[in-house]
Amino acid sequence: MSPAKQKPEPSPAENARVPGVTPAVADKLAKIGLRSEADLVMHLPLRYEDETRITPIADAVPSLTAQFEAEVVSCEVAFRPRRQLVARVRDDSGDMVLRFLNFYPSQQKALQEGARLRLFGEPRGGFFGTEIVHPRFHVVAAEAPLPDRLTPVYPTTAGLAQTALRRLVLRAVERAEARGDLADTLPEEIRQRLKLADFAASLRFLHAPPPEISLAELEARGHPAWRRVAFDELLAQQISLRRAYEARRARGAPILAGSGELTERLLAALPFKLTGAQGRVVEEIAADLRQPHPMQRLLQGDVGSGKTIVAALAMLQAVESGYQAALMAPTEILAEQHFRKLHAWLTPIGIEVAWLSGSLKKRDKTAMAEAIASGRARLVVGTHALIEEGVDFEKLGLAIVDEQHRFGVRQRLALKQKGMSAHQLTMSATPIPRTLAMSYYADMDVSVLDELPPGRTPVVTKLVSEARRPEVVARVRDACLAGRQAYWVCPLIEESEALQLKTAQETWEHLTAELPELKVGLVHGRLKADEKAAVMDAFVKNETQLLVATTVIEVGVDVPNASLMVIEHAERFGLAQLHQLRGRVGRGAHDSACILLYAQPLGENARSRLKVIYENTDGFEIARLDLELRGPGEFIGSRQSGMPLLRFADLDDTALVERVRNVADELLRDWPEHADAHLKRWLGGREELLKA
Ligand code: ADP
Ligand code: MG
Repeated sequence: MSPAKQKPEPSPAENARVPGVTPAVADKLAKIGLRSEADLVMHLPLRYEDETRITPIADAVPSLTAQFEAEVVSCEVAFRPRRQLVARVRDDSGDMVLRFLNFYPSQQKALQEGARLRLFGEPRGGFFGTEIVHPRFHVVAAEAPLPDRLTPVYPTTAGLAQTALRRLVLRAVERAEARGDLADTLPEEIRQRLKLADFAASLRFLHAPPPEISLAELEARGHPAWRRVAFDELLAQQISLRRAYEARRARGAPILAGSGELTERLLAALPFKLTGAQGRVVEEIAADLRQPHPMQRLLQGDVGSGKTIVAALAMLQAVESGYQAALMAPTEILAEQHFRKLHAWLTPIGIEVAWLSGSLKKRDKTAMAEAIASGRARLVVGTHALIEEGVDFEKLGLAIVDEQHRFGVRQRLALKQKGMSAHQLTMSATPIPRTLAMSYYADMDVSVLDELPPGRTPVVTKLVSEARRPEVVARVRDACLAGRQAYWVCPLIEESEALQLKTAQETWEHLTAELPELKVGLVHGRLKADEKAAVMDAFVKNETQLLVATTVIEVGVDVPNASLMVIEHAERFGLAQLHQLRGRVGRGAHDSACILLYAQPLGENARSRLKVIYENTDGFEIARLDLELRGPGEFIGSRQSGMPLLRFADLDDTALVERVRNVADELLRDWPEHADAHLKRWLGGREELLKA
């Protein structure tokens, strides 16, 4: 694996320039996120090439990239099988052919007979002996000295040559060093304790490694210089997120001590007992709410782990304390599910649950906004309508957001402003692997529901080729005639929402025709809110037995009588989605199954995903494997649009992330100037992005 990953796309707002280059070069540099000399210093190689030694042609090993020095014997344009430039070169040990399928006149000119070349490339055995296709080469004088450092290869962009970029980076490093900019940002004491390499030495080493080092050793992540860089990168992330955390913590929030009266009443009225995990998390949240500063907590719990009751208890604590509480969900369906559940639990203990969504009639919306503003509505459930203009809470004490990553950026900002001084709880059913949570989510406290309520029947997962669709339809019929219900999820069509709708419509028509003895419902994202609610309502009441759906049912839908989930073209779905969808069944006492219909041929990626979902049921384990398959970039992509991705640190080392977290806290506490200097080096002007 190459040591450095590609930089993420830079934001266009930043337009500082690297000094001393033409505007054209500056633009190219900016394209790969290099806007200052400091950026160049931190632009680390993807890999290296060894041009410090010369291999005799006779020793060329097929597929082993090497450098040769040879004289041109002949050079001509050949036309078979197509136009190409073919040169024959030789050294004292033998000769070989250089082949250029595309070439410039300048190259042809350089390859004239008698010219001495240094050439670099991957030899292979050809019909005419050893040959190299498209070698990199330059003309040298006899006895020209060899470089005494390995040659770094940097991430670059079209039109920006390695040699030019290399020169700019080296110059930037030299100047930074002369200015004293490479001073270590870690106090000597910490560096010694953690046995970390010196920063400047590591950087010099990575940009210009000595030739004794083997390429393999250098490109391995375990090298002390790479370890130092990875440590520093993670540290910058931790410092900045911990600082954001501390800044929010410094603000005031109402103490929601709670009398315990309502929560006890609810607990006594529930038809079940909290699981151990629920009990623990309820306590963690209750303790946060009693603090005079805002809670910033993420509640993670797999599908069906019972987050709603945890939310309800927290909301009651706010209400007991004389404050309002709000629960917001990203879709109408989800919000309504929450409303239904809360309504069923709370009405019997005398607490009214208010409902606000965009689909309410204007008059009702205005009335609800008034009830919220006057404080008559104490406990409100809704969609993002809750944070829209015209809705002002009288005394908001607690804001709970379900599946926050599904809200848009604008809505998240609005929420932030509305909930400035309120306690905030974010809930997520997409389990995040521990190292990822500890790194990218270091600005929150994290609670985990790692236990499912008792009495769940495990869902049996089956992989079935599409050719056997009729059997699957028969199985749906049997389950529904036996009194159960089923979901049929239509294929995901990423490119076109219109096509997706069409497919859903057609699937519904087919299944309706194939299953005349069943009532079949159809739900998709384009239905109006009240239409959607009506379809869902019919399914909840078992008036329809089969629900054909697009992925709108992905999260939150809870119909315990549904015991069969069919997902068509499962190979097109992501792991998190499949896990979420499967979580819609297995919620009642009946044996449940999830059938993943797939179309042949399966690509390698799709095959790996289906294997993971087939072999695993634990959401955290699936998330971990997903992270392995996709890398953190895509994994967290939707949450942190502005968050610089880690380029050097691999998140598979939990102990490392923990150590870095501790050092971040230590620096912030005891060495604040070092923390500042460190952030400046790694984030430059980008730090602001982290706070969004
Ligand atoms: P999710 O975490 O996916 O939002 P829910 O809150 O919807 O899960 O809970 C899933 C189902 O489990 C609901 O029907 C809920 O009433 C039920 N439930 C929650 N906690 C328990 C428990 N401790 N014992 C039994 N059933 C529970
Ligand atoms: Mg839920």
